[in-house]
Formats: sequence, C-alpha cells, structure tokens
Amino acid sequence: MAEKSATTHPPSELSIRSVSVLSSGSAEARPEHQRGTRLPQWWWLLTSRSWIDVPINFFVIEHRDGLVLFDTGLDPAIASDPNYITSPIGQFLLKRIFRFHIGEQDRLDRKMRDAGFLPEDVKKAVFLHLHFDHVGGIAHIPQAELIVSRREWDVLSEPHPEREWILREHIQLPTAKWHSVEFSLTGDPLFAPFGGYHDIMGDGSLILLPTPGHTAGSSSMLVRSQQLPPLLLIGDLAYSAEMLMEDKVPGTGDARLLRQSYAKVRQLVQELPELIIVPSHDSAALEKLKGALANV
Ligand SMILES: [Zn+2]
Repeated sequence: MAEKSATTHPPSELSIRSVSVLSSGSAEARPEHQRGTRLPQWWWLLTSRSWIDVPINFFVIEHRDGLVLFDTGLDPAIASDPNYITSPIGQFLLKRIFRFHIGEQDRLDRKMRDAGFLPEDVKKAVFLHLHFDHVGGIAHIPQAELIVSRREWDVLSEPHPEREWILREHIQLPTAKWHSVEFSLTGDPLFAPFGGYHDIMGDGSLILLPTPGHTAGSSSMLVRSQQLPPLLLIGDLAYSAEMLMEDKVPGTGDARLLRQSYAKVRQLVQELPELIIVPSHDSAALEKLKGALANV
C-alpha cells in the first residue's frame, strides 16, 4: 500500500463526456467455464461437448483530459496464427476452451476508427487483468500509458504465467509503456471494504479497486460521471452480474478469493444502489449499459 489520503475527490462535473462499448469479435466457451461445476477443471476441459456465446468487448471513455481505454480486446491473430500461443499444450487446451469468431475487421484500431475515435488519441488504457483476450490491441496504442495493478504485473515474473493464460510475448512488447500501480489506503468509507484504491485521472471519475480471484491481481474499475449511473467494470470477476449477487463462482479462478471480492462488491452496491455491474463477457449487462448510454 502507498500513502494514505483522507478522502477521495468527488467526480468533477463533466470530466467524463462519454462511454462507448466496442466489440472486438466474439468467442464460444464451455458452459462449465462460466457457470461453475463440482467437476474438476481438467475433467470438463476434456469432456465438455457444448458451447455458449461469449462477447469480447472493450470500452472507450472520453475524459476531459483525453481518451481512456478499458481493455483492448482480442488480437485477430489468435484465429489466424497457429503459433499465437507458443506452447503445444496451450495450443491443445485453447481449442478445448474457446472457439473464436474474429477477423482483421475486429482489430482495435479499425474498430476505434469505425466508431469515430483515433487510436493515436488514447492517453491511457486500464487493464483489470492480463489474460490474452483483454490485451490484444496494445500494439496499436504505443503512445498510451498502460495501467495494471502491481500484483497482476508481478505474475509476469512468476514461473510459467502462460499456464494462467498470461502471455509475456503479447504483453511485454518493446513499444508498450506499462505502469503498474500500488493501491493506496483511503479514508473514503465507500472504498474501505476493498482495502485500497487508485484514482486513475486524479479527479475521482475512474477508480481502480482490488478484486482478486479471477487472477491474483484482478481489479475492478468504478466509473462515475454526472450523466450516467455509476458503473463498475469488473472484468472477469464474474461472468454475469447475477452470479456475483447470488455468490456463485465460475469454474476458473480461486473460489475463496472470488467470494471475498464478491462480498466487497455487494457492499459497494449497498452504498450505491444505482450501480450497474458490468462483467466483460456478460451480454445482458452490456445491453443494460448500452441502454443507460442511449438515455444520456
Ligand atoms: Zn480473464
């Protein structure tokens, strides 16, 4: 933990001008992966026969001080380059875990331009964890500061992060300007359950919160603005908002840590009843978010 501040800043007026959801293709995954099962992971990995749709999105936030990306989606090379995953066991398992529906038209830079944004205008990109389906666009924003929690960054120094689907060769690019952040203590009771926070823009509009469990250093990001209800982007902490509210953990990650993080998010919901929880791969939550965005 870094230095302690007495309170966090309130979100200043109009510091966030818009929030957009952009698709970076889609995939199919095993139902056991997302909904959880009593079976061991290796069992369902080898025996599951069914698939469910998984949207893969990233978010563009227009802040007064510049564009901020939340996640960068999937690199289309995952579908076209058989060696995108280098280890043979990884290549085998990937085919068991995912089927991808993605092409060059889904590249981050093309999706941004199609939506009227310039990739070269991105000032910061925030990563809630470092799985390959969230870091696939960093080659297109070499000027941007790439922000991730210190604990997640440290996974790269541990033996075999690729076994956790954290792929050094697609993260530590020579052009990438990574900045790992420590969470600070805060006197703001809103964030007390989390034990720390990081104010990304310094104005209270984008707050990173530690929510480990999906990976060791997974975070969530609270987005606060004048024109929208508060949003909590939780990455892959849960695959649906209902799972989190009903305390159901998925078939991957550390169940004990996931439940601890779920409880912290539910405390935040008690303080902010309007909060929209947005898991990265939850179609229903994304539609709810798009509905809220359409009304501003
Ligand atoms: Zn993930």
